[in-house]
Amino acid sequence: MREQLLIAGKEIKPGTHEIIDFPLPPLSTHSDLHMPIHVIRGKHSGPCLLVCAALHGDEINGIEIIRRLVGLKTIAQLRGTLIAIPIVNVYGFIHMSRYLPDRRDLNRSFPGSEKGSLAARLANLFMQEIVSKATHGIDLHTAAVHRDNFPQIRGNLDRGVTLKLAEAFRAPLIIDAPLRPGTVREAAVELGIPWLVYEAGEALRFDEVSIRGGVRGIVNVMREIGMLNKLKSKATFSPRIVKSNFWIRAPQSGILRLTVKLGACVNKDDTLGYVADPYGGNQTRISAPNTGIIIGRTNLPLVHEGDALVHLARFQNTGFASEAVDMFQSELDPAEMESISGSTPIT
Ligand SMILES: [Zn+2]
Repeated sequence: MREQLLIAGKEIKPGTHEIIDFPLPPLSTHSDLHMPIHVIRGKHSGPCLLVCAALHGDEINGIEIIRRLVGLKTIAQLRGTLIAIPIVNVYGFIHMSRYLPDRRDLNRSFPGSEKGSLAARLANLFMQEIVSKATHGIDLHTAAVHRDNFPQIRGNLDRGVTLKLAEAFRAPLIIDAPLRPGTVREAAVELGIPWLVYEAGEALRFDEVSIRGGVRGIVNVMREIGMLNKLKSKATFSPRIVKSNFWIRAPQSGILRLTVKLGACVNKDDTLGYVADPYGGNQTRISAPNTGIIIGRTNLPLVHEGDALVHLARFQNTGFASEAVDMFQSELDPAEMESISGSTPIT
């Protein structure tokens, strides 16, 4: 007899795909609000994978990743359960904002509490009703507004099982990220649930390579944990682990011109860009303090002294990492593929 699965008081039976409208506190206008949740239960038992997106309401790549994921033919054959939530922070999403109406960051409010702020209550509800039912989790993010991330997996690699999942995902770079207080990742890891964060692209934008990489990565993890059959084909590259990463900040306020792309390989002292005043004077060159790969950058040319400009993953030798980055890009870039159909299954 398989265990009963109840979400928001509704039972999801094996062999069914349900969309549950999970009720949330209404808007101040008294309009009802729901968090839509896909629950896909296979006929046979197996792990329960939670995939969630838009915990930050303006980080929308993950919404498209989940739309494509749940539509894949192979998903109908899964063992176990896939819980996929395209928009966790519905309040932020309708305002195109990272935050909740109380200006709190939901992903700094975990594990939350029943009687706390709106953020704390939502976090608590999410933990009790969803996260606690999962055996594995993948949380989909992008960079903050006006910034862009090269697709990367973040996780606590001290736990061997998390490292295995991170490698299986096959983003080109894996960042060994310490747990940040208040995140759903920290709360899930405390419950013993292995948890990955996929960071890819920019807030309020769709990025095709990031989306394809996300769909493929989740399917790869499902193969790794036995929810889907493993493929026999050999991996074309090995993801590289980033042990040291940091932001290079604006030396002065002004107008920024970055001359490096995301995913670019740079050597120590290479030029990354320039900051000048709006009339072109007082120009300062920004150089790479170390050899590495550009894993994040701002897209906003208006900067103040101290603003984060370029996120560098430090490598002694960028050879293998740069190979992984290039291979990932060429495998998923629609310009380099025959088909650009958004619904093409990518496995
Ligand atoms: Zn985020």
